[in-house]
Amino acid sequence: MSYQVIARKWRPQTFKDLVGQQHVTETLANAIRNDRVAHAYIFSGARGVGKTTAARILAKAMNCVKGPTPEPCGECDSCKEIAAGTSLDVIEIDAASNRGIDQIRELREMVRACSFSKQSSDPRRSTHADG
Ligand SMILES: [Zn+2]
Repeated sequence: MSYQVIARKWRPQTFKDLVGQQHVTETLANAIRNDRVAHAYIFSGARGVGKTTAARILAKAMNCVKGPTPEPCGECDSCKEIAAGTSLDVIEIDAASNRGIDQIRELREMVRACSFSKQSSDPRRSTHADG
């Protein structure tokens, strides 16, 4: 059996499992349900409140083969890749160490490259967690 770090093993995988952030999860789930997802989201707050988790769940919700759906399946390739951090369409950036002009230039170049997956080429499907 391979070892998995605690943060990955126990990280909530659905909006329902994300505890203590109901105002956030409900807002995001409703936006998806009503097809009113914004172009970008900034998750801000103290360490450990669920910024990265919320961003990953949102990414799954938008990229799931059954989506956009507030309840991503967790079983399709897209969901699995996002959960494992290996998705080519979802890029996680440590905002605590990427706040200079050069990093922003790099980010813009990276974003310019088109989507890799067959399903999503929608530029709205990007999320961001600040660190
Ligand atoms: Zn899925």
